[in-house]
Amino acid sequence: MVLSDLAAGAVIETKKPHACGGRTWEILRAGADRTIKCLTCGRIVVLLPDELLKRTRRIGGKA
Ligand SMILES: [Zn+2]
Repeated sequence: MVLSDLAAGAVIETKKPHACGGRTWEILRAGADRTIKCLTCGRIVVLLPDELLKRTRRIGGKA
């Protein structure tokens, strides 16, 4: 997995679950940082690309 996989529209699964228990996120915006949205609770979080890469377990996750 490389940083370019983490593009806008991609759905990812994180290693650690969010506070709500969800692990699935959608990447909303991919610029100097990554804006991601928790698909379980709808919370939006902004992360540095390197940080997001570290937290990502895999790309995909939609049923
Ligand atoms: Zn959540």
